[in-house]
Amino acid sequence: SELEAEPTPEARQRHTELARELDEHQYRYYILQSPSVDDSIYDRLMRELEAIEAEFPALVTPDSPSQRVGGTFSTDFAAVTHAERMLSLDNALDDDELNAWVERVERDAGSQPRYLCELKIDGLAVNLTYRDGRLIRAATRGDGRTGEDITLNARTIRDIPERLKGDDVPALLEVRGEVFFTLAGFEEVNAAQVAAGERPFANPRNAASGSLRQKDPRITASRPMRMLVHGFGAREGFNPASQSEAYELMHAWGLPTSERWKVFGDLKGVRSYIEEYGEKRHKIEHEIDGVVVKIDQMSIQRRLGSTSKAPRWAIAFKYPPEEAMTKLLDIEVNV
Ligand code: NAD
Repeated sequence: SELEAEPTPEARQRHTELARELDEHQYRYYILQSPSVDDSIYDRLMRELEAIEAEFPALVTPDSPSQRVGGTFSTDFAAVTHAERMLSLDNALDDDELNAWVERVERDAGSQPRYLCELKIDGLAVNLTYRDGRLIRAATRGDGRTGEDITLNARTIRDIPERLKGDDVPALLEVRGEVFFTLAGFEEVNAAQVAAGERPFANPRNAASGSLRQKDPRITASRPMRMLVHGFGAREGFNPASQSEAYELMHAWGLPTSERWKVFGDLKGVRSYIEEYGEKRHKIEHEIDGVVVKIDQMSIQRRLGSTSKAPRWAIAFKYPPEEAMTKLLDIEVNV
């Protein structure tokens, strides 16, 4: 609008620098699968870019790294267009950012929201399409609109049912979830890599991405991958009133839902969940990089809607990276 401030030359220049740097990091992370910086550094650079864009909205172009869902894409697989877009998540890097999100949500929700908390698993997002209860396709997230067809590979994962059970299965359901390795499974796959003279995977996320995106599904089948459901996309004949009801229904149909999600009436409950899993995070069988908080009621989810990149009704609270914590402590000690 006319009231928007014209970007200063400094802001424009810094924006260009940051966009270039973030592009490069996204390329290294999603395509080469070999990031050169820690996630926390990437997240801070993204924050800086977003702050400049908030001050000077003219700098928000569709090709800004802040506007796109990043994803792996390889021509080894057929392209699949998701019936409904697969989004990323906005994140809160500390308590203040979480509070700001809650304030915004409660201001715009229209009624008192309930908060569903669940673990953020560090794996690979997949989209499973069930038609009349039968798995007809599995795809990676890709750029959110188009992913890779990994149906044959997904069929080798035991958690993923070929058919949904029950006589109330919907005519169409896009099930979204995370494919991942447990820590034990990750050790197993890396031991096998080393024994075969191959390079071990850097982390469980890379292992999941590499294992699911194999040309030969027999390799995928040999690896102990798991899956947990964390959402849904397009659907016909499925109208849950809440996220928690959706999980209960999907669970009844035989889909792998988590046993750890919890619904709270207020921020206090959310905080206690975050704190609880912050303490327990190393006792969990798989890696987590945070807690995802979602508004439970579908009516409020619809009302809040989404940005080009992420739903406004969910946020990923990221635990501080442990190396960074140690570094902070070191600095404090030195001071
Ligand atoms: P993300 O991984 O932060 O969050 C979105 C994803 O979380 C979803 O697609 C889904 O797959 C997953 N997820 C796990 N548990 C979930 C749950 N319970 N509910 C919903 N979703 C759940 O976002 P992203 O877009 O995949 O990646 C962005 C992040 O990747 C950055 O914040 C950064 O940490 C990292 N990254 C790092 C670099 C680097 O150079 N180090 C570069 C690019 C991205």
